[in-house]
Amino acid sequence: MAPARRFRAAALLALPVLACVGSSVPGTRSSPAAAPATLADATEGAIVHAVDAANPGALALLERIVNINSGTMNFAGVRDVGAVLRAELDALGFTTRWVDGATFGRAGHLVAERSGPGPRLLLIGHLDTVFEPSSPFQRFERLSETTARGPGIIDMKGGDVIIVQALGALKAAGVLDRMTVTVVMNGDEEHPGEPLAAARRALVDASQGAIAAIGFEDGAGDPHMANTARRGTASWTLRSTGTPAHSSQIFREDVGPGALFETARVLDAFRSRLAGQPYLTFNPGVALGGTAVALDAPHNQGSASGKTNVVAKEMVVQGDLRTLSPEQLASAKAVMREIVARPLPHTTSALEFDEGYPPMAPTAGNRRLLALYDAVSRDLGLGPVTAVDPMKTGAADVSFVAGLVPMALDGIGLTGRDDHTDKETADLPMLPALTKRAALLLYRLSRSAGQAPTTSAGEK
Ligand SMILES: [Zn+2]
Repeated sequence: MAPARRFRAAALLALPVLACVGSSVPGTRSSPAAAPATLADATEGAIVHAVDAANPGALALLERIVNINSGTMNFAGVRDVGAVLRAELDALGFTTRWVDGATFGRAGHLVAERSGPGPRLLLIGHLDTVFEPSSPFQRFERLSETTARGPGIIDMKGGDVIIVQALGALKAAGVLDRMTVTVVMNGDEEHPGEPLAAARRALVDASQGAIAAIGFEDGAGDPHMANTARRGTASWTLRSTGTPAHSSQIFREDVGPGALFETARVLDAFRSRLAGQPYLTFNPGVALGGTAVALDAPHNQGSASGKTNVVAKEMVVQGDLRTLSPEQLASAKAVMREIVARPLPHTTSALEFDEGYPPMAPTAGNRRLLALYDAVSRDLGLGPVTAVDPMKTGAADVSFVAGLVPMALDGIGLTGRDDHTDKETADLPMLPALTKRAALLLYRLSRSAGQAPTTSAGEK
């Protein structure tokens, strides 16, 4: 959106709130360069001031929830983290509920909503981490003035705190009542429940009518980057059969080449037809073939036996498929199915895909949301924000709704490094800086009713 008028913070020194704008801009290695702030109106100054004022509480909240183990399969811990954040959102006037996860084998999700005249905004967090109670990595540890280490500190309890604090600053500035916001914090982002459709139903439902879906994952670790696209990932299983016979008879008209040659045909056709397309990759990761095959599918392992003098009866291959858009996914699947549908004589092949994570395509709407975020960042004196190369990032929860809303953005949570390892570390000065960015983005979006772009296939 274009604010009606802009003025330099320097022209507004009479408003003490604006003096806070640059005060917490960090000087650490990965921090955006400080520059004078150029805010659109006094409300924006009030939001920025409120973030600074609440920052000690935000740091305390982060430490508190990092110290609660919430490995995905520690359901009690996931619920405990959810309860802490639920209380914060209750205090901001949200209507909150816990979505029980029994039907998909996980703890469940936190959903919070509040309504006003503004357009609906969907904010996405997650409560779980990869560190189960058995991990030695359990506690928040202050490493220096500017850094702290802890399980999930950036992936993504830091992002959850940014959501809560940004909403708190909007309330303090008196504008939250005008906004329509739904917050969904999943309890199983790191190890999703199954069926996946059930595990993501609350998130998908919450996207209904939203003009924007914003994920607060830690992203690329660089505060100058955010995700407008994420490749989706699906798994596939190829099963081929042949006609067993003495090996001396292979290729005979009534015997054919057997299961292994049929599988080789299919895989080589995948490679020759599909390899090299931008953003498309597919990888056969494990294969078993012979006279008898036993596949332990969930663990990608198994056993096979056969004889060199017997034409192979069966073969199974498991692989993955990564794509940038639903269209690319559909067309890759179509080509793969077409290849599989033409087996060699006396063989069969069948291909199955799992439901997987959908792609978050780089739509015009997503680019527009990034442009709004980039403008906020520049106006705060925090420098530009550009799009992450989707080849470098995996799928995330935002991917489930990116295709359902006009605009989506992810990776604007707390920055740091080494997530998913016991060195997971946050850049603490970025907490207020990123919270200001998020709060101003939400404020400007809330005033942009009717200006949201509509998506269409042509925009992809
Ligand atoms: Zn995460």
